[in-house]
Amino acid sequence: MRIVPVACLSDNYAYLVIGDEGAAVVVDASEAAPVRGALRREGAHLAAIWSTHHHWDHVGGNEELAREFSVEVVGHASDRGRLPGLTRGVAGGDTVRAGSLEAKCLHIPGHTLGAVAYYFDAGSAGDGGAVFTGDTLFCAGCGRLFEGTPAQMHASLASLARLPGTTRVYCGHEYTENNLRFAATLEPSNAAVAGARARAASLRSRAEPTVGTTLDDERSSNPFLRVGSPEIRATLGVASDADDVTAFAAIRAAKDAFK
Ligand code: ZN
Ligand code: FE
Repeated sequence: MRIVPVACLSDNYAYLVIGDEGAAVVVDASEAAPVRGALRREGAHLAAIWSTHHHWDHVGGNEELAREFSVEVVGHASDRGRLPGLTRGVAGGDTVRAGSLEAKCLHIPGHTLGAVAYYFDAGSAGDGGAVFTGDTLFCAGCGRLFEGTPAQMHASLASLARLPGTTRVYCGHEYTENNLRFAATLEPSNAAVAGARARAASLRSRAEPTVGTTLDDERSSNPFLRVGSPEIRATLGVASDADDVTAFAAIRAAKDAFK
């Protein structure tokens, strides 16, 4: 299987996941036209639309593409009525298929209550596996808490962080450089953050996406997966014996205020 990021709007990504026989799933059909163009360039045909959450910048092309290609729209069952074009509601633990493609749905509430990640294990994805995380886990960051609590988001991120370290992370936005600038203020002595910044700067200087980091990368550089870090806690004045949700909430609040 191949994964093709498709730049949409100002900083969103839709993704084509293309199986060996040319059937493609689009994860987060942000806009119809760029997705249609990418399908044509890749010589793929659309087999399904899988949405990570209901926000407009992730679903703007759902209805148009579903009509044009007669395909189903998958999203969390609780988003029925607010996720455009939804025809197939799923729950955490469900398996979704399209052509030869097969992924597991993980329910990851926090950014929204119906947020879903789609996980391809190493066997089906090759290359160590892949997970599509929407606006929940970003490369070096996480989404804002529009609907969920810090405890929900922390638990959702922890469930993603338990996937194999080789799993590649494909998130909903190109926010990596800003996220890493923030990470460096929390953990100035973390060499993994410095390394990730250099990598991201080099990719962005060539206008290439920074997505596709591994979960091993994220565990070593993403502050939202590092709530136990003594340096982060010291920077934010979080007690060393405070619980993880308290530390997570402090990091999220600091990011909300970060320019
Ligand atoms: Zn969103
Ligand atoms: Fe978004």
